[in-house]
Amino acid sequence: MTSAAILTLANYIDGALQPPRAGRYLDVHEPAIGAVYARCPDSSAEDIDAAVGAAQRAFPAWAALPAGQRARLLERIAERIETQLEAFAQAESRDSGKPLALARSLDIPRAIANLRFFAAAITQFASETHAGADALNYTLRAPLGVVGCISPWNLPLYLFTWKIAPALAAGNCVVAKPSEITPLTAWMLAQACIDAGLPPGVLNIVHGTGARAGQALIEHPGIAAISFTGSTRTGAAIASTLAPKFKKLSLEMGGKNATLVFADWEANAANLDTIVRSAFANQGQICLCGSRILIERSIYEKFKTDFVEKVRALKVGDPQDAASDLGAIVSRAHFDKVMGHIALAREEGGRVLYGGGAVRVDGRCSDGWFIAPTVIEGLAMDCHTNQEEIFGPVVTLIPFDSDDEAVMLANATRYGLAASLWTGSLTRAHRVAARLESGIVWINCWLRRDLRTPFGGVKDSGVGREGGVEALRFFTEAKNICVAL
Ligand code: NAD
Repeated sequence: MTSAAILTLANYIDGALQPPRAGRYLDVHEPAIGAVYARCPDSSAEDIDAAVGAAQRAFPAWAALPAGQRARLLERIAERIETQLEAFAQAESRDSGKPLALARSLDIPRAIANLRFFAAAITQFASETHAGADALNYTLRAPLGVVGCISPWNLPLYLFTWKIAPALAAGNCVVAKPSEITPLTAWMLAQACIDAGLPPGVLNIVHGTGARAGQALIEHPGIAAISFTGSTRTGAAIASTLAPKFKKLSLEMGGKNATLVFADWEANAANLDTIVRSAFANQGQICLCGSRILIERSIYEKFKTDFVEKVRALKVGDPQDAASDLGAIVSRAHFDKVMGHIALAREEGGRVLYGGGAVRVDGRCSDGWFIAPTVIEGLAMDCHTNQEEIFGPVVTLIPFDSDDEAVMLANATRYGLAASLWTGSLTRAHRVAARLESGIVWINCWLRRDLRTPFGGVKDSGVGREGGVEALRFFTEAKNICVAL
């Protein structure tokens, strides 16, 4: 690609697309071809400061706007994305390496749904009254002011809008920083906001690294709250910066999710497909993917054979190709990290049943970053492979002998984001689900999302909940007013 063909992205500050003040840019790669195709602003504290200033100026009018009018603007942004769904999906796939079919069916529709959901939700949002014999208490919920939203690369527009939509709906103004690895659809969102007529300064999108733009955002005294999704390591660093500043903080972080398959599960092709998808969707780069598959010993060998056969049928290929089940890994650095984990699994004594290495895709993708779906067995629960988040197409198979052991193994990590369990016994399903240390449990399904439900993790996977009323509560401050009767 010649430099003339390289796309230059811009920040969205005070209603306008702007270059970074210091003039610095970061390379953005297309993972499927392993080459630079765009550059995005490497923003600094000056850009963040300008964005916070614009948001502060916009806040009084935005907060005062009736909820229904804010909702209509969010709906208009959703419409703008919907009319360009294909362009957004192409951009998301190109930027992240995910199959185009997945971006079309999951990422972009969900971004639209996020905006529509919170547009509707804010018109239904209510606060409480507590009536007593001698006093009436009522609670007001006011927006916080200017808030910061920070998102990762794995579901770029999906997670970006998941934060921005409730923040804006609740009457806050936002400074948002997408991942520097996948900035393209956030840049397109800026144009959608301009086209929709969002008032200047209500939403500001500042691109750049975590160390420079992200750090400046969390440290800015004008920011009232941070909603963060990303790794546990970054979440811990953000929490330690914000704790003495007493800012509201929501953290959605890493996971090492368990999939529990009991001997009485309904062993049919559709369910097996779902378990395979829960392991390898988006190349295993979804925080909700099950990377440790626990299988009741009496069905272990049969399940293993059937599972590996399905995995063998998955096609790793050009994300543009409709036949590809898995696309590319998001970056060279992440490719190296995942390959390092596979090597470590072998050193730890793991037997690789399928995959275990890079895949060369011919044609335009011959320099892309592809890894085969990898299935490993023979590892103890306390080894690195079963304890550390790999966030790639790598799963381990582990046998168990009883419900107690299954629960013990599932809970034996520092994470607690999501789990799925497969059983024909309703009693067992409820009993086991209640004992899992996990913010989300799916029974006989995976990734069925109802946006009204609380979303988040326990232990090192998160602090706080997003989704539905939880998000609107996070982005508002409660004030109780007591009236003597
Ligand atoms: P990351 O922590 O490296 O980066 C996430 C975001 O934080 C990026 O925008 C980055 O620029 C920014 N950032 C980095 N350092 C910062 C700092 N000091 N101050 C402010 N911002 C900073 O995570 P990633 O590699 O982009 O994403 C993968 C991780 O995200 C995985 O651990 C995955 O499990 C997690 N994740 C969690 C959920 C969830 O809902 N729990 C969802 C998706 C992804």
